[in-house]
Amino acid sequence: MIIPEAFYAQVEAQLRAIDEEGLTKPERVLTTAQGGQIATGSGPAINLCANNYLGLANDPRVKAAARDAIDAWGTGLASVRFICGTQTIHKDLERAIADYTGFTDAILFPAAFDANGGVFEPLLDENDAIVSDSLNHASIIDGIRLCKARRYRFANGDMADLECQLIAAREAGARHVLIATDGVFSMDGYLAPLADLTSLAERFGALTLVDDCHSTGVVGPRGRGTAAACQVEGRIDILTGTFGKALGGAMGGFVAAKKPVVDLLRQKARPYLFSNALAPAVCGASLAAIEIAASDEGDRLRAKLADNAKRFREAMTAAGFELLPGAHPIVPVMLRDAALAQRFAARLLEEGVYVTSFSFPVVPRGKARIRTQMSAALEHHHIDTAVDAFTRVGRELGIVQ
Ligand SMILES: *Cc1c(COP(=O)(O)O)cnc(C)c1O
Repeated sequence: MIIPEAFYAQVEAQLRAIDEEGLTKPERVLTTAQGGQIATGSGPAINLCANNYLGLANDPRVKAAARDAIDAWGTGLASVRFICGTQTIHKDLERAIADYTGFTDAILFPAAFDANGGVFEPLLDENDAIVSDSLNHASIIDGIRLCKARRYRFANGDMADLECQLIAAREAGARHVLIATDGVFSMDGYLAPLADLTSLAERFGALTLVDDCHSTGVVGPRGRGTAAACQVEGRIDILTGTFGKALGGAMGGFVAAKKPVVDLLRQKARPYLFSNALAPAVCGASLAAIEIAASDEGDRLRAKLADNAKRFREAMTAAGFELLPGAHPIVPVMLRDAALAQRFAARLLEEGVYVTSFSFPVVPRGKARIRTQMSAALEHHHIDTAVDAFTRVGRELGIVQ
């Protein structure tokens, strides 16, 4: 047998190159459940880098719902949805997420990555055009690549550029034009300007797709998302989202839209047709999380989340750190230099605060940062302790006085 040594040598060379650039992404092993207070091999830590916005990832009610679902429906379907993989609980979850987000129907996917990967290709072809924000999530970029529609890109949140691209798409004779945007951009915590974006869409007869992964359960009245926050509910055509962040943090994605769109996705979306049904425990947990998110209790958790974000922003600003402005629980602490951001994050873990640094190519060159994320699972004392640690390390590394 011939061993393809050259291949393995190339793989190892690539790993070395990534490491030499300082870009190796370590997997930090948690020795606890997800939460505001966790532990890693380095000891206990305050956690400022989960998408666990409402703190439901280890909530007793959500866990009980997952256990009940296993008892009632088993551990899994061993089937894709259309063969013998659809239970009442899948239909219940589709109904619940459609109602919560204000759409007539919804379809589940194994992940939001798959929702975005599968949503474009069945709906649009080479006669059509997709106009995509330059900072859209990788899964939207991949989904668009899998679709034959012509591609246009506009600068992040830049409505003048969006208009130029819409003109270009129309002049090129596109039949249907779809504008695709994240609802909240994950590296900055900025909301897409959906009021202006939907107005432009309507002027150009374009459809709109919003990915609300960082928004569902978090942003807008009752956590209904960015369309509700921007007062354009009912004017978005397609919504994609996840159960893997605020809504319990397990996994799973969805597309919510008008019924015929969802019906066509059920016939043609490949990650839906060719991948296993969501596990009943995930459906049960997500249903319980939606119920909490949509309730008065959800409002209380969102108020606590907003209060934590405000407390952290104010104290960090007073301590002399540069933050990106905003109100979203994503609070980027700008350090600009990639090596510095990485060192800062490593030192913080030693000080008992778990954060992640992001640098090029995830964010533009010279805009390296520590992206912190607030959670309703954090208490004031966690926030204060974290700010103290930031200040100590900031002084040590010469960033604040
Ligand atoms: C997290 C995220 C996804 C992927 O969600 P999964 O359910 O984890 O696959 C897609 N889009 C955006 C904007 C995200 O933030």
